[in-house]
Amino acid sequence: MKTNILGYPRIGSHRELKKACENYWAGKISEEQLLEEGASIRVLNWYLQREYKTDFIPSNDFSFYDHVLDLTLSLGAIPQRYIPLLSKKTDLYFAMARGYQKNAHDIIAMEMTKWFDTNYHYIVPEFTKEQQFSLFHNKALEEYKEAKALGIETKPVIIGPVSFLLLGKEKESGFDKLDITERLVPVYTRMLKELEDAGVEYIQIDEPFLSMDIEEKAKQLYPIVYQQIKDSCPKLKIILTTYFEGLKDNTELALSLPFDTLHVDLVRCPQQLDTILNLFSSDKKLSLGIVDGRNIWKNDFEASLKMIQRASDQLERDRIFIAASSSFLHVPCDLELETKENILTPEIKQWMAFAEQKVKELATLKELLQERPSNQTLEKLEANKKSIRKKQSSSLIHNADVKKQLENISADDSRRKNPFAIRRKKQQDILNLPLFPTTTIGSFPQTKEVRSWRAQFKKGNLSEKEYNDLLRAETQKAIQWQESIGLDVLVHGEFERNDMVEYFGEQLAGFTFSQNGWVQSYGSRCVKPPIIYGDVSRPDPMTIYWTTYANALTDKPVKGMLTGPVTILQWSFVRNDQPRSETCKQIALAIRKEVDNLQQAGISVIQIDEPAIREGLPLRKKDWKIYLDWAVNCFCLSASVVNDETQIHTHMCYSEFNDIIEYIALMDADVITIECSRSQMELLDAFAEFKYPNDIGPGVYDIHSPRIPSVEEMVNLIRKAAKVILSEQLWVNPDCGLKTRGWNETKTALTNMVEAARILRKEIN
Ligand code: GLN
Ligand code: ZN
Repeated sequence: MKTNILGYPRIGSHRELKKACENYWAGKISEEQLLEEGASIRVLNWYLQREYKTDFIPSNDFSFYDHVLDLTLSLGAIPQRYIPLLSKKTDLYFAMARGYQKNAHDIIAMEMTKWFDTNYHYIVPEFTKEQQFSLFHNKALEEYKEAKALGIETKPVIIGPVSFLLLGKEKESGFDKLDITERLVPVYTRMLKELEDAGVEYIQIDEPFLSMDIEEKAKQLYPIVYQQIKDSCPKLKIILTTYFEGLKDNTELALSLPFDTLHVDLVRCPQQLDTILNLFSSDKKLSLGIVDGRNIWKNDFEASLKMIQRASDQLERDRIFIAASSSFLHVPCDLELETKENILTPEIKQWMAFAEQKVKELATLKELLQERPSNQTLEKLEANKKSIRKKQSSSLIHNADVKKQLENISADDSRRKNPFAIRRKKQQDILNLPLFPTTTIGSFPQTKEVRSWRAQFKKGNLSEKEYNDLLRAETQKAIQWQESIGLDVLVHGEFERNDMVEYFGEQLAGFTFSQNGWVQSYGSRCVKPPIIYGDVSRPDPMTIYWTTYANALTDKPVKGMLTGPVTILQWSFVRNDQPRSETCKQIALAIRKEVDNLQQAGISVIQIDEPAIREGLPLRKKDWKIYLDWAVNCFCLSASVVNDETQIHTHMCYSEFNDIIEYIALMDADVITIECSRSQMELLDAFAEFKYPNDIGPGVYDIHSPRIPSVEEMVNLIRKAAKVILSEQLWVNPDCGLKTRGWNETKTALTNMVEAARILRKEIN
């Protein structure tokens, strides 16, 4: 049996890629140095996988920003506006990802959206009616050759043509992106042909959409496209790869395609194994995704061996690959870098596995499947069994008190006391806000200084008092500055927070952390998800100090800023021993206590961020309702403890709301601020059509790009919004928190934004 890895983390075990990219963008290192850093990450990854005798080592899983963008550029799907940059490939590439404001150019970035149900974001390909493709460069080929030169035979990884189109977006009306397949496939096959000619034997073609709900037209395309690939590249062995869900209704379709090997995700959908085995044809191979690419818990060898056994009852052993369920892009690099026992205790650490450990797990499973495994290997199995058993009964996990509180929740606990119309009036009496009230989403720039204070504090070089003094001064500056430009609802700036989930997780019981467990979120942005290992509770208030401190500095209202239960759940590594809904409810109860405390402390506006509510949606529509019911309920449970007079905000980003708008309404937040600017207010249509009853703040500028929006641009966007939403309902704000931006751009942008709101107020009066 061979081992198959679908993709390895590309950020480097110490986030080398992040640092290199950011230095390159800041002009601190040359293009050559950047490219070298990339190459050294790739080499280390390949060597590591070779060391553990991985049979199928991926190449082209590396990316400087995003692998979807890589393919977009490879296939020459470069939007018109970037044509002036064509001659400089690296600049062009980053311009597509981040926008470009240099040398008299001012070009906006491409859209970015979530990669299926992960917290990874990809750059959305743009297609036009007359879309042409051409082989701009063959990145997969370059990286294959690079590995080959080191003596490593790799399996290039490429997104399949149908999934590529489905990931993209039509930039004009009057055509269907699937209709450009005819133009795409010849270029795509040329790319593959070059790989075949270079000696590639196996290629991993990712078609995640085969495990999603897809329209009939896409279903019909698959056999045509894959036959064309087969005809053009008859020698290439295709590992047709799906993940994150089961093939379900697409099983027969997938099985009918001309692949050599089919890869399926048996962590997410173990049930599909039997169906597939029953229908599997005798000349094909099956790759069993059994080592979880999405979570950090140790593999249960006994359970995996059972699963493999079921497959080998029906297939010859050499037709079975044992594999990761998905790319390891979604887990941190190396658990062995976790050396501080006060951060991650040995007891919890031994339940876990990061990417490198997962590579080893695959190697061990392979050894265990040999005719006569060595004693050493058998010992590994015994140790694994013991550790899995120990975890199940650990007293670290179970808290009777939390379980009792959950039982005592009633339906009323998740409902505000009065409808929005009544609340709105009471809130306005207190807040006295103008038309088009302006606000921000919460965080202000986490500058180098702010981050260095935290680092110094953690190292012990700053005392708690010194650290807090610095934070107080920064908060005070932020409050004064917001007052001075005339924002209406202020924020304290979140300077004390490392990350919107980690900050809360650190103060909640049932959570643990890693020192170095970074995962890529988008581009150079990485997150270090907390790890929920046990029942969750809130021992002490979490945000009261900083919120009340800021609130006392001004007569304007300061928003209390909380992260919502669904987002905390969604952006953490979660337990795999109880349903997500149960864990979420525990978190909701903890946030509810915080909301209650904020209100008691005199905070009249409280924002509960739920940017991740949509990404928590199950990938298959059939499962949506169950999820939305519990997710909305958890939000309401956390928010509904307040009186009518307290204004609850929520914030969501990178979401399409059309299909869940009724649930968003059920969340019943008094104000919702949303991402809108990259898609030029298109998102608002859903709110307009639904006649969304509460207040809305559509983001009027994109904070994910350093580009500074002009007053005029924002006036136009607000006007556009006011065409479909009542002016009385509209708030004016950026589309997300500003922590990743610098102060200079932030100051100009927000000053422009306040000016835009003023212009519109005048216009209406
Ligand atoms: N309040 C958070 C911030 O401003 C929200 C961030 C988010 O939506 N991702 O940073
Ligand atoms: Zn946001």
